Amino acid sequence: MSEKTLILNASAEPLSFISVRRAVVLVLKEKAEIIEGHRKKRIRSATCELPYPLVVRLVNYVRIPRRWRSVVPNPIRFTRDQHTCQYCGRTSLELGRKERLTREHVVPISRGGTNTWENVATACSTCNHRKGNRLLKEANMRLLNRPREPKFVAIVLLGQAAAGAQRRYIEPFLGKEKHRATVGVPA
Ligand SMILES: [Zn+2]
Repeated sequence: MSEKTLILNASAEPLSFISVRRAVVLVLKEKAEIIEGHRKKRIRSATCELPYPLVVRLVNYVRIPRRWRSVVPNPIRFTRDQHTCQYCGRTSLELGRKERLTREHVVPISRGGTNTWENVATACSTCNHRKGNRLLKEANMRLLNRPREPKFVAIVLLGQAAAGAQRRYIEPFLGKEKHRATVGVPA
């Protein structure tokens, strides 16, 4: 039983998981509607009774701010890069005791690089130090994968496991295989 509600945009694009309580508030304010409720469980209040919301859909479409998309928090980027140094290919589990995964700017900030998805990669502290303030060519280093901006839906759902009823709403957007790979849902 999931304790989180999957919230979809009005376009049915999956946005995020929110608390059941918050979902109920949105429904009572008529800002969202329940499109998948628990078969048996119900929510009861003094004035009404609702199905326990597994999936809700916003009544009005919300635009996802570009600014939000360009922010690349470390845990999400590490997940995108599968917790692997994009230079030496070692995972966080294979690093030495004094090593750690870091944020690496492909084009260093001091050389005009930015904080966008395309310019930040996960690198172990050793590789990051080795590359230093140089461009890839100068350092004679290569990235294992070109850093890209994941789809919005992938960003918010990375690392979050969804219940079966919720997966049906996520997978059409991500593709079944990709969703399994990103959230680690057992096949
Ligand atoms: Zn490395």
